[in-house]
Amino acid sequence: MTTPAVNAGSQLLVHRCVDCRRWVYPEAERCPVCAGPLAAEPVSGEGTVFTYTVNHHAFQPAIPVPYVIAIVELAEQTDLRMATNIVGCPPDEVAVGMPVRVAFEQRGDMLVPVFERA
Ligand SMILES: [Zn+2]
Repeated sequence: MTTPAVNAGSQLLVHRCVDCRRWVYPEAERCPVCAGPLAAEPVSGEGTVFTYTVNHHAFQPAIPVPYVIAIVELAEQTDLRMATNIVGCPPDEVAVGMPVRVAFEQRGDMLVPVFERA
């Protein structure tokens, strides 16, 4: 799983086709629709939970369990989805279709985009 990029203004960045303006994630070399070049642009950070699972296994000691692994669909485009964590919300309150917005967690020297209830 690649971590989406974050710019200096703490905005989530997603690649977008320069020609047809389609958002493309995960990252690709070219636009899958028109083969146009891609450039990173900030997105609103708004989205909804597309699907999720609650993880009870401590894969990483630094991350307490249980936590929510989710696929969030960004508001910018149907099918623009990323794997992420839902934070600041009890796992049993997370629901498919729940509105969320991006937040950022410092993990080591990386700023990782996660989502919280909107
Ligand atoms: Zn395109």
